[in-house]
Amino acid sequence: MNFQYRNPEIEKMPRPELEKLQLQKLKTEIGYALRTPFYKERLSKTGIKSPDDIKTLNDLNKIPFTAKNDLRDGFPYGFLSIPKEEVVRLHASSGTTGIPTTIYFNKDDIKNWAFFMARCIYATGCNKNDVFQNMITYGLFTGGLGFHQGGEEVGMLVIPAGAGNTGRQFKMMQDYGTTVLHATPSFLLHLETKMKEAGISRESLSITRAFAGAEPYSEDTRKRIEALLKVDVYNSYGLSEMNGPGVAFECQCKDGLHIWEDGYIAEIVNPDTLEPVKDGEIGELVLTILCREATPILRYRTRDLTAFYTEPCACGRTHRRLRRITGRSDDMLIINGVNVFPSQIEEVIMGMKEVGNNYLIVVEKEGALDRMTVKTEVSADIFMDDSRPLNALKEKIKETLQTSISISPKVELHESGSLPISEGKAVRVQDMRPKDV
Ligand code: ADP
Ligand code: ZN
Repeated sequence: MNFQYRNPEIEKMPRPELEKLQLQKLKTEIGYALRTPFYKERLSKTGIKSPDDIKTLNDLNKIPFTAKNDLRDGFPYGFLSIPKEEVVRLHASSGTTGIPTTIYFNKDDIKNWAFFMARCIYATGCNKNDVFQNMITYGLFTGGLGFHQGGEEVGMLVIPAGAGNTGRQFKMMQDYGTTVLHATPSFLLHLETKMKEAGISRESLSITRAFAGAEPYSEDTRKRIEALLKVDVYNSYGLSEMNGPGVAFECQCKDGLHIWEDGYIAEIVNPDTLEPVKDGEIGELVLTILCREATPILRYRTRDLTAFYTEPCACGRTHRRLRRITGRSDDMLIINGVNVFPSQIEEVIMGMKEVGNNYLIVVEKEGALDRMTVKTEVSADIFMDDSRPLNALKEKIKETLQTSISISPKVELHESGSLPISEGKAVRVQDMRPKDV
């Protein structure tokens, strides 16, 4: 394969040198952090009073973790390290569960973000000849502007399409000869359903690649999108606390996401003991940003579950790879005492070709018991009025879930394109059980 590197000297830097670079950047970042009210107080308790108190990367372990609640408590300016007049932009996470976490940027921070984002895009083989349709929400959400800037930095023609409205999306793809897409995996699947419905031929489109991220999805879902849309799909990972997209991305090998270690220090810890897991084991990703002045965040507990690859990547990059993120530790459902992640259910159903492009998991209380219903669309070529294949499919889903995760849910089959689709991140679980107080 012909690999291309945007910053070859950094992307292929020998690890000892890379770690030296991290140390130097960490010291600078600690300097920024000491200017914020939050870390000034936190770090003084650990004896870190100046960047020079950090001598090796191991000194990071002296710093307590930062949690989402800390960011909320610090709202609005507790994590700001520069005078307000130097701030040029803010972004905020969706804030579905309370106060939004707000991240501020100065001019250099924005440039750095575009630098990492461009590296991600370039690593997938894109270049300035590409036409890039960014089909994700713009605004406070980081996916829109993050990819937009990165695409421009690579020199691609960027179409700020925004999310939703599949009809308009197809029209733009045809009018401007779009070659690269960015969307959530659920929207890419929805796009394919709509494409069939609208009778749009794949031949009328020039798409070759798609970036899919912002929500968990399985390898089977990637394969399904690749087969249906006939594109190469690259996994994109990021979170607003760490700028947004641009944190980790797949290269052309499509086997794990390179985390850019000159921009972030990644640790993986056991979410219960908070001790580092053994190399290769699954745990919670903890990130320290090394490329932002206005809002330094140290040892942030992402809640995202992943593991490091232990083998180097065939592309020659020395930056470590993360496994596909299977979900957040707080996504876990407990169904009558059995622990289950929505991603495990997705893995089962998306591997079946009779299953369509969208699904929803509903959990309710039935007396004292939990009752789970898996609602899934069926593939467009199954007739809804012939009950035999439908019943067979229901049984197959039930049995496979029973053997793989010991859950025996009710299965409901729905017509292709009929389950609700969200414009932002897909809502995969509706937990209707009364909350404990
Ligand atoms: P929030 O969802 O907390 O409002 P963000 O919009 O910043 O904030 O979303 C970041 C989160 O989205 C990540 O922490 C992770 O849980 C999820 N996410 C982003 N990209 C991926 C991906 N490629 N695979 C799985 N999960 C992802
Ligand atoms: Zn690689």
